[in-house]
Amino acid sequence: MASQDLPAAFGFLASARPSGGRIPHAAFATRGSHTGVDLRLRAQTLGATLVHAPSTPPDSAQARDGDTAVLLAGEIYNRDDLFSVLGAPGPESGQLGDAQLVLGLLRRYGLHAFRLLNGRFAAAVCTGRRILLATDHAGSVPLYVCAGPGEVTASTEAKTLAGTLSGQGSPRGFPFADARRVRGLPGVYQVPAGAVMDIDLDSGTAETHRTWAPPLARRIMDEDDAVAAVRAALDRAVGARVAPGGTPLVVLSGGIDSSGVAALAHRAAGSVDSLSMGTDVSDEFAEARAVADHLGSRHREITVPTADLLGQLPYAVWASESEDPHIIEYLLPLVALYRALDGPARRVLTGYGADIPLAGMHREDRLSNLDTAVAYDMATYDGLNEMSPVLSAVSGHWSTHPYWDRDVLDLLVSLEAGLKRRYGRDKWVLRAAMAELLPEQTVKRPKLGVHEGSGTTSSFSLLLLEEGVPERSVDVAKQQVVRELFDRTVVGGEAPEDVSTDEVVRSVADRLERGAA
Ligand code: ATP
Ligand code: MG
Repeated sequence: MASQDLPAAFGFLASARPSGGRIPHAAFATRGSHTGVDLRLRAQTLGATLVHAPSTPPDSAQARDGDTAVLLAGEIYNRDDLFSVLGAPGPESGQLGDAQLVLGLLRRYGLHAFRLLNGRFAAAVCTGRRILLATDHAGSVPLYVCAGPGEVTASTEAKTLAGTLSGQGSPRGFPFADARRVRGLPGVYQVPAGAVMDIDLDSGTAETHRTWAPPLARRIMDEDDAVAAVRAALDRAVGARVAPGGTPLVVLSGGIDSSGVAALAHRAAGSVDSLSMGTDVSDEFAEARAVADHLGSRHREITVPTADLLGQLPYAVWASESEDPHIIEYLLPLVALYRALDGPARRVLTGYGADIPLAGMHREDRLSNLDTAVAYDMATYDGLNEMSPVLSAVSGHWSTHPYWDRDVLDLLVSLEAGLKRRYGRDKWVLRAAMAELLPEQTVKRPKLGVHEGSGTTSSFSLLLLEEGVPERSVDVAKQQVVRELFDRTVVGGEAPEDVSTDEVVRSVADRLERGAA
């Protein structure tokens, strides 16, 4: 992250050709200004649209020398380390953009440069007759590709690639064996998390290199060392996500995860704003307020009626481009919260994702089950898009998740399970690491189930039950609802405001009833 408050670009749509560039038009879910890029390199041309905050010029999202161009959406969190291997950074290094930094690293390491980055980004590099498409370790900024003869198109939103397929009447798109296809968009593939796809512009063939994998081994540490290591890693991750002189906004549910982030962000920035969302059915306002009072943050509460919450399902699917009904349920309150957050673009920190490496949902003492949950979740997160920045970018905000910082994640995943569940407590090591920064009741409070806090899961179920879906079919129905929303908003390009959750739920309920009859 350079010294500005927001990344130079939130997303891009880019098209590489041997010659004769074009700047592709894009209808992103990400809200922001669009800036066209037209770069003529020695062996290819790159046309792109960058989407960025209106207040932030996107210059440092691109860099080039004679033969190579880099586009980068998002930001890098270990800039100082990276400068240290590039040699004397000089006083101007704070001004050097992330794309420029990546260009320097590419000269030195080739595509292995991406193994060095700890960030939240998607990048496209044109070099010689090759295109490199890279994701961060978590694939937290989704990246998609569609390649045809003599053209490779890549985008941070799959929906923007829908149009590239029908160019010559018949669908085209070379297959990529190592990447996941996108439902309903033939020829469109998702670049895997923690990977670089190295694509030959002439043949469309690709080689995929993994740049990160979740740790499989577990480390034994004594309590004090583990607690100190977690505290230090989180301190650094939060510090790297706070812009100098800026006041970050923390979305605060009052649980240990977001409260810990709020406390560390407060120390790093000197001040924080915090925001809690509740529904008419349930909220955690009192718990969040206790933390806000303790820190002295400028705190706001937003109440979203449950009916409105479910009405935002089309936005959650459109933004995340996820087809997983559980993920959509987790994301729904956040989407509602971000959409209610009006005003200028903000840098938002969340407590998202701590439960995955720490198995926070695990509520009994058998450690074998705890590690089964961690291993499973770390093997299956790719493609779920639950960390996507588009969720907040639909209202112009940039969000970032310190628990999924590369180094924090490496540490948390690798701790032996007895440090995660200890003395009858979930997420023990995290609670201990935050103990002196937060009120005692916050540190001790047991975890609520996912979105018990805002009651989303139960209200989605209720809506289906009220439409006559039998209890045993609720999960199937949720899947069908999410699938239909995906087909309409991502594949079909319908605007989410034109799609009614109630109508989709009704049609799914009818279909299930007819199928059962
Ligand atoms: P926490 O311990 O912070 O409650 P959690 O494990 O319960 O986190 P989730 O409920 O999955 O996590 O939510 C992930 C993150 O999203 C939270 O850490 C918080 O930053 C944000 N968030 C979720 N729900 C709300 C809400 N109702 N109000 C404000 N922020 C929220
Ligand atoms: Mg919570």
